[in-house]
Amino acid sequence: ERMVSAEAQHEEENLENQLRPQLLNQYIGQDKVKNNLKVFIEAAKIRNEALDHVLLYGPPGLGKTTLATIIAHEMGVQIKTTSGPAIERPGDLAAILTALEPGDVLFIDEIHRLNRVVEEVLYPAMEDFCLDIVIGKGPTARSVRLDLPPFTLVGATTRAGLLSSPLRDRFGVLSRLDYYTNEDLKKIVTRTAEIYEVELEDEASVELARRSRGTPRIANRLLRRVRDFAQVQGNSYIDYKLAIDALDRLQVDKLGLDHIDHKLLKGIIEKFRGGPVGLDTIAATIGEESHTLEDVYEPYLLQIGFLQRTPRGRMVTYKVYEHFQMEVPE
Ligand code: ADP
Repeated sequence: ERMVSAEAQHEEENLENQLRPQLLNQYIGQDKVKNNLKVFIEAAKIRNEALDHVLLYGPPGLGKTTLATIIAHEMGVQIKTTSGPAIERPGDLAAILTALEPGDVLFIDEIHRLNRVVEEVLYPAMEDFCLDIVIGKGPTARSVRLDLPPFTLVGATTRAGLLSSPLRDRFGVLSRLDYYTNEDLKKIVTRTAEIYEVELEDEASVELARRSRGTPRIANRLLRRVRDFAQVQGNSYIDYKLAIDALDRLQVDKLGLDHIDHKLLKGIIEKFRGGPVGLDTIAATIGEESHTLEDVYEPYLLQIGFLQRTPRGRMVTYKVYEHFQMEVPE
């Protein structure tokens, strides 16, 4: 298990649901996205209409699912949750759509993983709130149009570029979530500590924020693990020293990098003189698929300027040498 993985493990999902803020003003950070949504939600409520379809994109763990539930709460409607890979056939999607109540939110996570046939059912549903279904087989087959209640589709994806353009074009609101600032992450762990009823020293929360890779999910997870260390030691108070000791034992360094990041970065330095080196080659050195490397491991390293993408492959920057206290080559 990777402590700083941005993905949620299965058993973690319940823990996360407890922590989800329910209203926009409890959602910390992402001010631009939040302020826009606030306006669109108010306007839709004034017009007494369903909110326009919303596409949320950004790395995992930044609060896309949370925002979808908040949108439903703020609109005063129900939310139905599913994911791209879970909808296998057009009939699966039709069943979901026909069960919606007027105004409901349908949340499709990993929407870029919908297959083509299913996606095509979604186009008229999003545009005209209707389904075209074929009844019967062979020469007697005929197509009927079924009306759907107006609904709001909230789609989530790690990258907007992964969506086909006809699908992307059918969203009225496109919002990109960015990595959180340390200040916002500190507010998030402080809020979580209150929910868990653990006492957290101010400097300990700063340290947790600093090591959570700009990602609320990781911040909350680190807090839970640090709380374990505290409880095992019979402590109910998490001070700075306890937090540092626990984080070190979890092998999460000062920037939130773990042993896999270290292996990856040191691998590029030691085996490829710092790069450039192709994605596939790096993936092989850490024993991962290249798309996993690209979606999961790499985004944060790019964000903090440790990795650079060049036409000839990935390169480490001088920051990596400094971080590892190695001599920066010419
Ligand atoms: P995503 O769907 O983008 O992978 P989630 O919505 O599941 O991310 O968020 C992961 C966890 O982080 C949740 O437990 C949620 O409570 C917390 N979280 C995310 N964004 C925020 C935020 N802005 N304020 C407070 N908590 C947040």
